[in-house]
Amino acid sequence: MTSSLENNSATGTRSDDGVAEFDAIVVGAGVTGLYSLYRLRELGFSVQAFEDGTGVGGTWYWNRYPGARFDSESYTYGYSFSEDLLQEWDWKELYSGQPENERYLNYVADKFDLRRNIRLNSRVVSAVFDEDDNRWEVEIADGYRARAQFLITAVGILSAHYIPDFEGIDSFEGQWCHTGRWPAEGMDLAGKRVGVVGTGATGVQLITEIAKEVAHLTVFQRTANYCAPLRNRLIDDQMQQEIKASYPEIFEKCLETPGSFMHQFDPRSGLDVPPEERMDQYEALWAEPGFKEWLSNFYDVMLPGEANEDYAEFGRNKIRERVHDPEVAEMLVPKDHMFGSKRLPCESGYYEVYNQDNVLLVDVREAPIERITPKGLKTAAAEYELDVIIFATGYDAVTGSLNRMRIQGLGGETLQEKFANGPRAYMGISSSGFPNLFTVNAASVGNFVRAAEPLVDWVTECIDYVRNKGYARVAATPTAEEEWVQHVCEGGAKILRTQANSWFVGANIPGKARVLLTAPDSAPAMRAKRAEVVANGYEGFAME
Ligand code: NAP
Repeated sequence: MTSSLENNSATGTRSDDGVAEFDAIVVGAGVTGLYSLYRLRELGFSVQAFEDGTGVGGTWYWNRYPGARFDSESYTYGYSFSEDLLQEWDWKELYSGQPENERYLNYVADKFDLRRNIRLNSRVVSAVFDEDDNRWEVEIADGYRARAQFLITAVGILSAHYIPDFEGIDSFEGQWCHTGRWPAEGMDLAGKRVGVVGTGATGVQLITEIAKEVAHLTVFQRTANYCAPLRNRLIDDQMQQEIKASYPEIFEKCLETPGSFMHQFDPRSGLDVPPEERMDQYEALWAEPGFKEWLSNFYDVMLPGEANEDYAEFGRNKIRERVHDPEVAEMLVPKDHMFGSKRLPCESGYYEVYNQDNVLLVDVREAPIERITPKGLKTAAAEYELDVIIFATGYDAVTGSLNRMRIQGLGGETLQEKFANGPRAYMGISSSGFPNLFTVNAASVGNFVRAAEPLVDWVTECIDYVRNKGYARVAATPTAEEEWVQHVCEGGAKILRTQANSWFVGANIPGKARVLLTAPDSAPAMRAKRAEVVANGYEGFAME
């Protein structure tokens, strides 16, 4: 029973025990959380979103490191649900940078008056399912509590930042940070000796940018990556007009492609094309911006095998051409994983950084990092004196952000226990034993917003259906869940993304089970699967 201290369908109510009551709670006010909040409110639910940060934006709030920007074309990344928004917002660059992206998400929050239902500075520490009441009770770090029938975890794929357990970090006398927790006030790196650990997509963006100002830069690289030129540029007035006039076609195109990008594979096999023509295509695509270099290429470039290796060698030679010192070039040439098996970092002058006299590349595969010292960083081979250490060491992807909250379902089981050997959620969304919980952060793949929007539409329509039918609980059946886990395992074994030791399969986190953390399917296949589930009366879900 709830008494009405505050009773407003948009803001929820407060129960006698002082716990705020809502129809739905959304954890996170990033891209997915903001849209979940918008959709649920449109459907007439009372909703509260909780956000750890002091502002909205999620990934684009936290990742303030120099150089952070999109690798998807800006105009394919924005929300598509509002024609007004599409026409009002001008993307200034082809691949927009963090400050602009954060501004965009703030603009969305203001335009749709979302802030009144977002509690900032609110880290969710636990969510416990009350089996008698069929509601989730969520507790915030400051003691605030709220209850709702439905819980959506819009906590992001890459938000639980990971710093390796290096001994001695606390003894370091200089400044240090992780790229995903870059201080809002910035870091003054000018004239400093800076060390960067990690050369993934984040490290590549950061290193390129800070190399322009630091006195000396030491890059600690364990694995070299294939990188492709981003070729960012400003969007001029004419292009702006063209973009705004063609949003329906742009989004239509994105809907058709496997990763929801603008780029469609060449249906020919690279191996069926004469070598000279093949090379011409490689070169032509290399001159194009962004992911076109791989996602518009011969289809089998993105499958394990000979065509993939042919293109990988093309990419390796591009690195060799750009780095003056052949020994350094060879250190930067990836040799231990297939092209495309890790997310491809896009770069804007990354390799040329290593031609600077004040930049040193250190191989920490050969001589691993042993500890952080008061004066810097010590590897098995040497100690490096540093004023600043930046960890671009990635994320405990997908499940990490769920595990950092205590999510407790039926019978006291926690999601962390249940996901100990990898996510067990039907279509990435719903796990048996955790009624009314929708783990949307585990279900998005590819061009993020293009994948997130239809996913949130599906989840919120499901919630609406459950409410309209008067059900108290909805969750995947154990059978549907088990079949999905098998599907991820079998489908995952065939694709490139599982072939390397990366966050895609949890291999970047010591001790984490090695399984594909997202679906192995293309975006159209995922949408079709979800549509089929609805057409068959929410097949695979138990509603009570
Ligand atoms: P990441 O790809 O996981 O890279 C982490 C880096 O840290 C790797 O180089 C890794 O080396 C290194 N590392 C981890 N532990 C280490 C240790 N103990 N000793 C030495 N090195 C260590 O993380 P990320 O660069 O943050 O990127 C994660 C994902 O975020 C990307 O794949 C992408 O999807 C997304 N992202 C997107 C953009 C964008 O353009 N929109 C930008 C940045 C990131 P190993 O490779 O050897 O493990």
